[in-house]
Amino acid sequence: MQQYLFWILLLFLALGIIYPAIGLLAIICMLAPVVLAPYKGRYWCGNFCPRGSFYDNVIAKLSPHKPIPAFVRSKSFRAFMVVFIMSVFGVQMYYAWGDIGEMGRVFVRIILITTIVGIILGLIYHQRTWCSFCPMGTLASWFSAKAKPMPLQVKDSCVDCKLCTTACPLQLSPYIEKGNTQGFTHGDCLKCNRCVKKCPKKALAFQNG
Ligand code: SF4
Ligand code: SF4
Repeated sequence: MQQYLFWILLLFLALGIIYPAIGLLAIICMLAPVVLAPYKGRYWCGNFCPRGSFYDNVIAKLSPHKPIPAFVRSKSFRAFMVVFIMSVFGVQMYYAWGDIGEMGRVFVRIILITTIVGIILGLIYHQRTWCSFCPMGTLASWFSAKAKPMPLQVKDSCVDCKLCTTACPLQLSPYIEKGNTQGFTHGDCLKCNRCVKKCPKKALAFQNG
């Protein structure tokens, strides 16, 4: 299903420009990843987010698949982006408050601009570069890192081929936790299952999934 969800993003933006009140629906996509995070980690980002689907299924075909810059994954940059985007959002919402159309327009505008930034980064680096520092994804990753839901077990059959990292939309490396009984619990894991499917040794499996 994830491969078709990007149509929701395109429909949302097209309709949202004409009927801005539709923008209020975006609150679902903003809250869902954070609410789900303590129980499923960034499952929403990897399986239900229409923008994630757009990057995985459209931009991925055009992306050079270079390493995601370490800078954008740093804690300080991610914290800055949370504060920056939330502040911009808050100020705009303050002035739009009470007018449904204007409030919806705030969502449409912010999603349009951040999607364009994500497209540019995807065409320069990697399709999911934006998702490495998306504010809602960052909040979800903080909750996920604390709760450690759905750990990914790495069995001894792993041969360090690193194909899991190649398949991972966020270029994570589950294989580094071979031998760790707690498994791979990285807060940014999208629980997308791509590494599990890609592993030639069937060394990966989610627990509590
Ligand atoms: S793809 Fe499988 S075998 Fe290869 S490094 Fe990853 S977990 Fe290990
Ligand atoms: S580690 Fe595996 S499940 Fe987690 S985001 Fe990467 S490919 Fe998806």
